[in-house]
Amino acid sequence: MSKPVQDWSARVEELSGAKLNDCYQCGKCTAGCPRGEVMDVPPTRIMRSAQSGDVLEVAKARSIWQCLSCQTCTARCPKNVEVAGVVDALRQISIETNTFSDESLKVVSFQKAFLRSVRRNGRTNETEMATDFEARYFFRRFDVANVIRVGLLGPKMIARGKMHFKLGSPVKDKALVKRIFDKCGVEL
Ligand code: SF4
Ligand code: SF4
Repeated sequence: MSKPVQDWSARVEELSGAKLNDCYQCGKCTAGCPRGEVMDVPPTRIMRSAQSGDVLEVAKARSIWQCLSCQTCTARCPKNVEVAGVVDALRQISIETNTFSDESLKVVSFQKAFLRSVRRNGRTNETEMATDFEARYFFRRFDVANVIRVGLLGPKMIARGKMHFKLGSPVKDKALVKRIFDKCGVEL
């Protein structure tokens, strides 16, 4: 029996809570987006692709990883479309289907290291997160220059109190945070 065809628009709606067909392509989301000028696929086009089911194509776009999650697009939308939620849903689909572009590998690796750290500790542990990111990213790219760049940042961050070497986590109910991750079911 052949595999049922995935309805990607429905999947985006399920993940984001957005009603895709409410978008009438006015462009206000793109006009207000602080990253709109550098995005290869701006929010209005993201919405159009999501409406038409062309989701895997737009899941390759650099722009979904350049988004700041600032919610300006959602706030400006005259139809109350949850545009930022759509971008989030596309990130999740991009990871699930492994469709993110090679150029986005670094930011995807960093976001995963951040989330793994929160899942383990209930909040970020910068030292552990940086080590996790560097180790995994290095073995994908052998990017020595990046290791040196991040290594040089370490002392500056420590001097400014932005990085600590404390063991353990001050979060009392780490199990609760882990349950949230389990419920979301995101593979990291
Ligand atoms: S602002 Fe809203 S209606 Fe206008 S293009 Fe963006 S999502 Fe569509
Ligand atoms: S949430 Fe992302 S897409 Fe929306 S305005 Fe902010 S940066 Fe742009």
